[in-house]
Amino acid sequence: TVPPTHHLHSATSAAFEASFEASFEASFDVVVIGAGHAGTEAAVAAARSGASVALITGALEQIGQLSCNPAIGGIAKGTVVREVDALGGIMARATDLASVQFRMLNRGKGPAVWAPRAQCDRGLYRRAVRQLLEAQPNLVTIQGMVARLLFDGTGERVSGVETLEGRRFGARAVVLTTGTFGRGKMHIGTGTQISGGRAGEASSVLLGEQLDALGLTTERFKTGTPPRIDGRSVRTRDLELQHSEIEQFDYSWSHFWSTPRANVVDCARRTRHPAQMPCWLTMLDEAGTSIIATHLAESAMYGGAIASRGPRYCPSVEDKVVKFPDKAQHQLFLEPEGHDTSELYVNGLSTSLPAPVQLTILRSVRGLEDVRMTRAGYAIEYDYYPPTQLSSTLASRAVYGLYFAGQVNGTTGYEEAAGQGVIAGLNAARWVQEREPVILGRETSYIGVLIDDLVTRGVDEPYRLFTSRSEFRLTVRQDNALARLGEIADGLGLLAPDEQAQMGLRLGAVREAYALAERTSMTPAVADPLLLAVGSAPLQHAVRAIELTRRQDVSLQTLFAAAGVGDALPVDAVVGAELEIKYERYFEKERNRAIRLKAQGSVSLHETLNYEAMTTISIEARQKLTRIRPATLAQAGQIPGISPADLQNLLMELRRTL
Ligand code: FAD
Repeated sequence: TVPPTHHLHSATSAAFEASFEASFEASFDVVVIGAGHAGTEAAVAAARSGASVALITGALEQIGQLSCNPAIGGIAKGTVVREVDALGGIMARATDLASVQFRMLNRGKGPAVWAPRAQCDRGLYRRAVRQLLEAQPNLVTIQGMVARLLFDGTGERVSGVETLEGRRFGARAVVLTTGTFGRGKMHIGTGTQISGGRAGEASSVLLGEQLDALGLTTERFKTGTPPRIDGRSVRTRDLELQHSEIEQFDYSWSHFWSTPRANVVDCARRTRHPAQMPCWLTMLDEAGTSIIATHLAESAMYGGAIASRGPRYCPSVEDKVVKFPDKAQHQLFLEPEGHDTSELYVNGLSTSLPAPVQLTILRSVRGLEDVRMTRAGYAIEYDYYPPTQLSSTLASRAVYGLYFAGQVNGTTGYEEAAGQGVIAGLNAARWVQEREPVILGRETSYIGVLIDDLVTRGVDEPYRLFTSRSEFRLTVRQDNALARLGEIADGLGLLAPDEQAQMGLRLGAVREAYALAERTSMTPAVADPLLLAVGSAPLQHAVRAIELTRRQDVSLQTLFAAAGVGDALPVDAVVGAELEIKYERYFEKERNRAIRLKAQGSVSLHETLNYEAMTTISIEARQKLTRIRPATLAQAGQIPGISPADLQNLLMELRRTL
């Protein structure tokens, strides 16, 4: 057990400081522990903010590893990917370099809720992330498992880290992003338990013990992953094929970003994506579900080996069978792992049953009668730190200079981790630089919603984002992430000059498309065939394109094409302008609500406020405010149990104390 060095040195002495610092191999402004999706974004955001950064991780080859499903994006998550990108992050850029299949989800429901999702070549994704990191100035990557945090002579403030090998690095701030590795325990059936952070990788034990000793509250969650199979043993001819939907979709707005600097791929003229690959669809039917029902007691999750909670929206197949006993079939997607392997990921079959049972289930499925299982599925239990222990900057309240991001905060998903990583890295750097912290409002982004939910409401099951979590989902969309966050990123100094120029062009194109719609007159002769084709009334006289775009099912792109204008404008700029035109009135309402929330948000609540003395507020609200200590009035309003009346009274109490 590592002693809590935090309290070892009660007196600061010059001699101690000198010998302490001499023990460092190198010193950095920010050290990030862990190079998963949170850690890589935290490191990039801190480095882009001008801090010197070391990213220390268990295995350099595993940087950016997609632990479970090799896919980036999905509902709400796809929007986060684009927000991370607008803030100068790397997730979208790496996905563009590794995507082998793309689908725009929710396409049937109207563009305001469209959700991009890209499947990636797992190996290419890792390599792209590593290359992008190595192309980042101010940032170095180091292999090593961090065993403990080091503290300065006062014992109050984090001042470095030490790895298992005894390498010591100085740090003025540390970002902890150790994912599922904190005392990770993997389960296959009730009989097999293996210590590890992910299959084939060691867990992080000593650091967890030190964090306990420092007084942090630690809890446990679980998650699971399906078996993988050898694609050469699948009867693909018996299965439904699903092709990639769009060959050329770019997650990132910064088209040419990686070419000149990272020398990653020649992407100036060609697509950044590797060749697209298909998926196959099949079904787990009654034969499979009855095997699962028979062996349920042998499942780690149902046989009593794991008590902690798992992600509700990525249920294990055991969960599906128990919760929906009447469902005869469950869909399975066989997804490619990459171009360099025939291995397939069996999406929909996450399980912690014994390996032989997993194989029997697989072989009960159409097309998999002779399948070879390359890896068994497993469940994993890991430490997380309830995020109500953090401030909105993702800084720990208990340990000075320590930030938390990703799965360690009780979230699930690569995108949620990445979004937090950006904010934690940014704030760690800015704290070191003695600059104002950055807190994104709920009205600006899903990242703002995510962090606000975490620090004010906490989690009682692994947290994932949904569009329903945002009160601003009409105006906070995947297509306008750059418009929402680009200027903020630029103001924070996160964008390089070529990116600033690129952003100007991108946003300018949307404005130009809007202005063109206002200028372009559509005559009945030109417009009527289009209008009649979508069941819209013909024109009596010429009308501006902007007016016609407001009609249901009329597309601005089609109008421009018919009028012979706007062909130099990028398609996504025209789609962005069309959305702004079509839903203008709804957007207006929502933006007004956002302005009101922002006004509330600007009322800040000082850390030292004595809520107990504010007797006009309900007792429950006083207790919650004392415990959670929201940074603003808007945040206080998000805490469950705090009523509008409490907020009103809080505002009065604040005025009284001023
Ligand atoms: P991770 O991606 O876990 O990265 C952590 C990094 O920290 C690793 O690089 C590791 O080497 C490093 N590290 C750990 N400890 C130390 C240390 N002491 N010193 C140095 N480096 C350290 N998500 C879903 O949304 N749905 C699912 O169904 C799902 N299933 C999953 C199944 C399994 C088996 C696993 C392992 C994960 C699953 N996930 C799932 C979670 C998903 O992988 C995470 O949400 C995501 O990877 C979190 O990113 P992160 O950056 O927080 O952590």
